[in-house]
Amino acid sequence: MTDPEGGDDGAEDLAALAELAAERARERQALQPKALATVADALAARTADATTAAAAPTRSPRVWLSRAGWCLQCQTPLEAGRATCDACIALARHERDRAALALAKAQVPAAHRDASFRALRLELGAERARVSDSKTLEAVFSVAKAWVSGEYDPLVVVLWGNTGCGKSTLAAAVALATIRSALPTPDFSPPAAVVAMARGFRWVEAVDLGEARREDKLGQVPKLIAQARSAPLLVLDELGRENDPDVIYRILQARMGLTGSDPARPTLITTAKTPTELRAHYDAGVWRRIQDPNFALILQVHGGMAPPDRSRRLP
Ligand SMILES: [Zn+2]
Repeated sequence: MTDPEGGDDGAEDLAALAELAAERARERQALQPKALATVADALAARTADATTAAAAPTRSPRVWLSRAGWCLQCQTPLEAGRATCDACIALARHERDRAALALAKAQVPAAHRDASFRALRLELGAERARVSDSKTLEAVFSVAKAWVSGEYDPLVVVLWGNTGCGKSTLAAAVALATIRSALPTPDFSPPAAVVAMARGFRWVEAVDLGEARREDKLGQVPKLIAQARSAPLLVLDELGRENDPDVIYRILQARMGLTGSDPARPTLITTAKTPTELRAHYDAGVWRRIQDPNFALILQVHGGMAPPDRSRRLP
């Protein structure tokens, strides 16, 4: 398993791939005349075939070219019957993964898209630090590490604090660490569960969920709600802004694996509500689970617009 914090956006992978590509280009240049000669031979052979045996079964160009013995992508020699060499297959897979993970990364709101634990640690103590509490930061980092190693313990993390305290940035740091650790390198393939978690990651604003439900005209589950329920990793941002607590109840119930049909899936919740307010606002059953230390971790993120009300205690 890679360090979830490792490699700023896979810069090292890129360097390795660039080197691989350069090597392939050199080989391609060296082999080009030979490859062309092979094609010329094959063409001549096929023309002869066509004239002498008009009834011969037609072969697809792909099969025919691969029989010429070189990779269709980079023209390196290849055993007969194959169209693409291992290096080109690996490169294509890597590019496909990068594209999928870039799409997942685009889920994170632009304001938090550069979040990383490294950056947050460097900011600690600085005047404009987004998260000023190192204990909270390290607790969230531990969660990120557990999740990318396949342990969903805790299953739910609730980050609460005032507007501007950095709770969404912390949630983004976890999501982006997961996405980074899902990127394969030439000599490392991340576990399928991590890749699925990173690719299927969704960032949902709680306020949009109530809106989505109003669009539900045919009795079907609106797409956004279905995604929030089943995403392998979810950030539910600004819980409490929605005007429909019931939709939150159903989503959390599904994500906690309490419906009997859905497996438990890791969830990050940010909210400006205090634990006392959350308890008053949401269904007691869901709240009981959120409160259960075996299920959830509730962390206060200090800072932001106004000092949190210290008189309120965890219920
Ligand atoms: Zn190739």
